Amino acid sequence: MHIPFLDIEKITQKYQPHLSEAIVATINSGWYLNGKNVKEFENSFAQYIGTSYCISVGNGLDALTLALTAMKQLENWNDGDEVIVPAFTFIATAEAVNRSGLTPIFIDIDNNFTLDLRNCEQLITSKTRAIIPVHLYGKPCNMRILKKIANNYGLKILEDAAQAHGAQFENKRIGSWGDAAAFSFYPGKNLGALGDGGAVTTNNEKLAKHIQILANYGAENKYYHTYQGCNSRLDEIQAAVLSIKLTQLDYDNKRRQEIAQIYATHINNTAAGNIPYTRDTTQSVFHIYPFMSPTREKLQSYLARHDIETLIHYPLALHKQIVYNKSYGYLSFPYAERAAKEELSLPISPVMTNDEALYITEIINKFIP
Ligand SMILES: *Cc1c(COP(=O)(O)O)cnc(C)c1O
Repeated sequence: MHIPFLDIEKITQKYQPHLSEAIVATINSGWYLNGKNVKEFENSFAQYIGTSYCISVGNGLDALTLALTAMKQLENWNDGDEVIVPAFTFIATAEAVNRSGLTPIFIDIDNNFTLDLRNCEQLITSKTRAIIPVHLYGKPCNMRILKKIANNYGLKILEDAAQAHGAQFENKRIGSWGDAAAFSFYPGKNLGALGDGGAVTTNNEKLAKHIQILANYGAENKYYHTYQGCNSRLDEIQAAVLSIKLTQLDYDNKRRQEIAQIYATHINNTAAGNIPYTRDTTQSVFHIYPFMSPTREKLQSYLARHDIETLIHYPLALHKQIVYNKSYGYLSFPYAERAAKEELSLPISPVMTNDEALYITEIINKFIP
């Protein structure tokens, strides 16, 4: 039995013929940007997340960058001011800080793969302006504790929610906890377009307006440019696709949790590695199922020989990346470095069957390092 890491074709098929119909309707409408599909999606996504505003943009990196740049301009932050970012995340989180003319200050992660809240306060200086929690792999950062720290020091919170569409912390959706949140609709995400897409959610009207202006060439009124802006927008076709897929997001996330539950219940080969978190799988939307294996490379090729495809998220922590190594390489983040060495992403998706998940657990349980 061949099991791909993520069968995106199968996920797309699940929404047919609705996707094709909506795409054809958009083609025939003759209106491809800044139209009613985008408005509709922004409204339904804001409502789903539980915020007053949703500004759709071109991708997740733009969502992060535009939100930070808007905060910087509205709050009069200086160039080089500091933003605390986990050392273990996708590069975009830190890149957005640099793109906004700010300085990333890396922090280690903890057992949940989210930023280590016990280490946070000691990194705060007179130049610290914001913290970016990344809800890595779909598991929410403890926003209750983080908000308390941010409030105590007058810092902004920008959530990187690119892996956590639909996740909840204390019955409130991720994306509604911070001053703003950035989402990516890259095809492989829990809510994925058929191309690039992204969005910022926020309850702050001023911030929402400013992000909208920056994303539209810095223009408040057409052809009158107040700020140095850029062009970043979701198109009408992707917006139509996302509106359809949003209706099934909760169901899809529940399926991911059921697959995770099968892994958590049946994998018992501790020589192969350890399951993440506790056995309570309702706390994450499992964008990724991070299996921690001390013999990762061996396990990965063993699974490949059994036709089970796995990936590594991510093989190198940010402070060790060539782009950051010169400034940050001397730092040590034990949990980030361990995750980079041991993490193996097992197949997980809303279109996987229980039988496939059970088969994978059987093969893993037979692994001899
Ligand atoms: C995917 C991702 C992004 C960037 O999204 P793009 O749409 O690819 O630009 C940012 N942060 C995290 C944690 C991601 O996983």
